[in-house]
Amino acid sequence: MATNATPRFGLKAHQVFWSEQGSIVCASSHIPYPGSDTWIWERWEEITPADMVEIDRQGGRVACEGCGKEPSRIARLNPSERTKR
Ligand SMILES: [Zn+2]
Repeated sequence: MATNATPRFGLKAHQVFWSEQGSIVCASSHIPYPGSDTWIWERWEEITPADMVEIDRQGGRVACEGCGKEPSRIARLNPSERTKR
């Protein structure tokens, strides 16, 4: 398998993850090690683009706790997705 570029653990830079407690982190630097105790106990999962659109639609805000990056910068939402009902 080819090695990926920058993000850690073979993740993609645009991915964003959240835990069961609602903590949100970017994949590029603030994510817990996948498979670690923290990862498993706090139930970290990727926030899918669909999840982000839904959060956005509900007026929520998603930003990495570590660096403050927001999904508009972490993951590019399709403008047509943002306004879709
Ligand atoms: Zn971050």
